[in-house]
Amino acid sequence: MQHIVLASRPTGAPTQDNFKLETAPMPEPKDGEVLVRVQYMSLDPYMRGRMDDAKSYAAPVPIGGTLEGGGVGEVISSRSDYLKPGDSVFGMLGWATHAVQPAKMLRKLDPAQAPLTAALGVLGMPGFTGWYGLNALGRPKAGETLVVAAATGPVGSMVGQLARKAGLRVVGIAGGAEKCAMAKDVYGFDDCLDHRAYETARDLRSALKDACPDGIDIYYENVGGKVLEAVLPLMNPHGRIPVCGMISWYDAGALGGDADSKGLTAPAIWRNILVKFLSVNGFIISNHYDQYPEFLSEVAPQVVSGDIKFVEDIAEGLENAPSAFMGMLKGANRGKQIVKVG
Ligand code: NDP
Repeated sequence: MQHIVLASRPTGAPTQDNFKLETAPMPEPKDGEVLVRVQYMSLDPYMRGRMDDAKSYAAPVPIGGTLEGGGVGEVISSRSDYLKPGDSVFGMLGWATHAVQPAKMLRKLDPAQAPLTAALGVLGMPGFTGWYGLNALGRPKAGETLVVAAATGPVGSMVGQLARKAGLRVVGIAGGAEKCAMAKDVYGFDDCLDHRAYETARDLRSALKDACPDGIDIYYENVGGKVLEAVLPLMNPHGRIPVCGMISWYDAGALGGDADSKGLTAPAIWRNILVKFLSVNGFIISNHYDQYPEFLSEVAPQVVSGDIKFVEDIAEGLENAPSAFMGMLKGANRGKQIVKVG
């Protein structure tokens, strides 16, 4: 089997040297375990945080350890009554061609219901994150205005589509004209601004003001940085901010919470929160999986009917996972970033 290990910790943006492709003997399942051949693996922004040796909600990957991540694959041998060879499963299979896991840690998938890759994006952790953050913390109401960045990713596109269906005005922020067109044409956003086209937060704010004539009621926070600075003064009183991610700071080690967040003035942020009575809620989706069945029963039929759209960006081969991952952190992905492993 092959797997990708963390060769060294990045300082700033990850580079190819931080990753190493290694070959290892095929693992053998013990009682209650199964051996899975990985078909597709997910690349997600949170993995950047696991590469740092910083205090966070999850332990860092040790140097020499296999990089973590969700994947879908086929059971090829089983020592469990729950799963048999040929079954399709989702689990935390890591950046690897094969994985041995306790059967009870895997979720059986029905390939007839939705494509296997959907379990990594639209019907998996990212889609669920968008659904949960929007509904539980954003508390959307028809007629309100919502802004979300990383608008064409699996989280942002779920947030935008659900908010639109709930009758909100939805304004996306994305990197580049092509992604902005995707937000509007594929996902039905009312408008979308290209954050790269505005040098300063002030310039972006003035464009956002035109795009959000009634102010902003929900800012679904995915990126932090310039976008947050642009949005915050436009928030309406009693606005809600589900704080889902802050990818613009991940290379500064901010996921560990100890980095200096460049360019942002904390007093200005807190003043906006105070004088406008904003609800700002951080959350980590792994604490809310009790609601995953509800998400699936509501959203899966809409994905199957084509009512909720999704776009996937599939890189070929485990060896290309690091470059696809580095690209995604910079916005090179067009939709949910997946790697076809085998
Ligand atoms: P995406 O597939 O959307 O990929 C990340 C995107 O972030 C890039 O494509 C890029 O889009 C955007 N981006 C990168 N750098 C910047 C920047 N400096 N300024 C603005 N945008 C930037 O990722 P996901 O949909 O999987 O995740 C979105 C967010 O949700 C992330 O912050 C992630 O960490 C968070 N998350 C949080 C969870 C939780 O439990 N709280 C669970 C899952 C995700 P573009 O080119 O459009 O700018």
